[in-house]
Amino acid sequence: MSSRPTDAIQRRRTVPVTIGGIQVGGDAPIRVQSMTNTDTADIKSTVTQCADLARAGSEFVRITVNNESAAAAVPTIRERLDALGVGVPLIGDFHFNGHRLLSDYPACAEALAKYRINPGNVGRGEKRDSQFATMVEIACRYDRPVRIGVNWGSLDPELVVRMMDANARSAAPKEAEVVMREAMVESAVGSALRAEELGLPKGHIILSCKMSGVQDLIAVYRMLAERTDHCLHLGLTEAGMGSKGIVASTAALAVLLQEGIGDTIRVSLTPAPGESRTREIIVAQEILQTMGLRPFAPMVAACPGCGRTTSTVFQELAEDIQTYLREQMPVWRDTHPGVETMQVAVMGCVVNGPGESKHANIGISLPGTGELPSAPVYIDGQKVTTLKGADIAARFKQMVDDYVVERYGPGAGG
Ligand code: SF4
Repeated sequence: MSSRPTDAIQRRRTVPVTIGGIQVGGDAPIRVQSMTNTDTADIKSTVTQCADLARAGSEFVRITVNNESAAAAVPTIRERLDALGVGVPLIGDFHFNGHRLLSDYPACAEALAKYRINPGNVGRGEKRDSQFATMVEIACRYDRPVRIGVNWGSLDPELVVRMMDANARSAAPKEAEVVMREAMVESAVGSALRAEELGLPKGHIILSCKMSGVQDLIAVYRMLAERTDHCLHLGLTEAGMGSKGIVASTAALAVLLQEGIGDTIRVSLTPAPGESRTREIIVAQEILQTMGLRPFAPMVAACPGCGRTTSTVFQELAEDIQTYLREQMPVWRDTHPGVETMQVAVMGCVVNGPGESKHANIGISLPGTGELPSAPVYIDGQKVTTLKGADIAARFKQMVDDYVVERYGPGAGG
């Protein structure tokens, strides 16, 4: 079984922030978070989705708090989640009226573990400063951290005009796109400085500058990382649906994570109609795990299959095992610590099957077309048995179960 070096990535050191008892930044693992798409005033639906996201592994769940009904619902949502045993910290997402909602609904301010402030959406002119100050003062009063979350789609227009004008007057004007990126960073860093002047400690501030273009996002976060040691939340905004959303998010986040940038991530996928919201959690976890940054659940290595396999047995087994392993994790996390690092191989034939299986904790090489109907199984690099017959899949699954108990069970020394 191979051990894969993970020390190539040196994470940028940031000032840690604690959200609802969970540390972000500093030496904490990179956190995964998500956001609901229910109407927050619909308490039942929001509680259900928050619980689903938390059970899938979301360490924080953000909910929109966009009007009085939503603000009034937040304390009940918190209570019902607690009653279900779901302690996931809730983050309130505020735009335009956050100063008023947080002031008028103190129970909402109390129930939330963090407030997201978008500096482009807190108001205009003089109102901007006073409304921003109100939100920061409430964060200080309740001892809550904030995320200053700048978004490409709602960048402070006054700041952009000011910076564009200054650029136009300069001896060597930069391209407008460069100035826009700089305005994103300026909005985040300047707002953080203002919040600190108002009394919010640096250890209560997370920054983000979300953009929808991969290269834009990478450029902006590199600038941000150079300018500040605040905790950074990463995410490609409006990533899109399906494979496009996954690929774009992965492309952007992987580059930044490889450079040690990012303390918490979100993958902003648009679910297909009827698709579970939890997919974004699985994708975020898989980005971190496949990069060797943080294990979440045992991973299955499977070959793509080719003309040497004419049946779908190995595809079905690979999918079955991956689903099974992930479903066991809520229990196994406590009963079998360390199991999240387990590697399982399900391979289609003898070409790469035995080799890949030997690199896994437990692996199987299924019979390809024309091969003997037998499937060697390897455990910790050694061939332990050869399965034959119609029930190969079921018996291999049982062997995986036995291995988990033996290797990672209480007192197993794994
Ligand atoms: S392991 Fe065998 S079945 Fe799988 S892709 Fe390679 S040659 Fe094809």
